[in-house]
Amino acid sequence: MMNKKETAKKDSAHSGPSSPVQENDLSGFKKIMLGALELFILTDGYLHEENVDSFAPRSQVSELKKILKEHFRPEDYIEMALNILLVKTKDRLILLDAGMGIFADERAGFLLKSLNKAGFSVKDITDVFISHAHPDHIGGLVDEKGNLVFSNAGYFISETEYDFWMNATLDDFGNSALKDQPELISQMISPVQNILKTIRPRLTFFDLNQELYGHFSFQAAPGHTPGLTMTTISSGKEKLICIADIVHSDVVVFPHPDWGYFGDADLDIAIQTRISVLRHSSETEMRVFAFHMPWPGLGFTGKAGQGFKWIPEGFMHP
Ligand SMILES: [Zn+2]
Repeated sequence: MMNKKETAKKDSAHSGPSSPVQENDLSGFKKIMLGALELFILTDGYLHEENVDSFAPRSQVSELKKILKEHFRPEDYIEMALNILLVKTKDRLILLDAGMGIFADERAGFLLKSLNKAGFSVKDITDVFISHAHPDHIGGLVDEKGNLVFSNAGYFISETEYDFWMNATLDDFGNSALKDQPELISQMISPVQNILKTIRPRLTFFDLNQELYGHFSFQAAPGHTPGLTMTTISSGKEKLICIADIVHSDVVVFPHPDWGYFGDADLDIAIQTRISVLRHSSETEMRVFAFHMPWPGLGFTGKAGQGFKWIPEGFMHP
């Protein structure tokens, strides 16, 4: 996803010395096993969106607010977690996306603290799999000076995604709710391009037909962005599909995958993909990891009426 307020935040971040407001530390991690693999879910914090209509470009805000009310959620904002997966294999340490980083406000930017709490340092990361190039997924790849944060890592992204952003113009967002905010698109493109240029010398494009490191396969899921790529992790009989930004809200998107999301680059394709991914994960009863679902973003999906439902995994300890 991407946040309407990112640009404003970025500007204010450079307007003077950092304010002495409370040093909130939201960092933390959750360790799980997947077959023989150790998985660490790291929090980068969360996003706070006051434009709730972002979650229903193809519906009415009144309908959306009704759902929020029914779920005892605030009606004047929606929050989204920033869950980042770290996978430890025999000889690799792989990060799936990098969080808000240089675009973070006080609610986000905790990835590195969470990584340290889990017992790792930035130099330990061998690979970064990038689901797509929205700011909340790649902002953590570089520091304020534009240098790579994970200095020993190789980077992976879809070639479609890379090409899209490197050549992006306003015309590419003609079927997006973003088209009504051209200034937001323009302000996003150049920082994204700068980050992609920085990782380019160490970049490999995902091969959708080839397993990687014995545990990873990649699936195209276009629409939210043209090159959005999901990662399926397997070990022994266990599998986990990391669906990234297929979904942005547990209570809104699942019952109404056809409502779209304002950050979707192409609403029609995104909706079609969303429905097909959720249908597949529901029919196969796949364990799912989702970047923006409530912490820690692990769960299952199921069919419910004309739509779907999110069934979060229950954990008895942190
Ligand atoms: Zn996102």
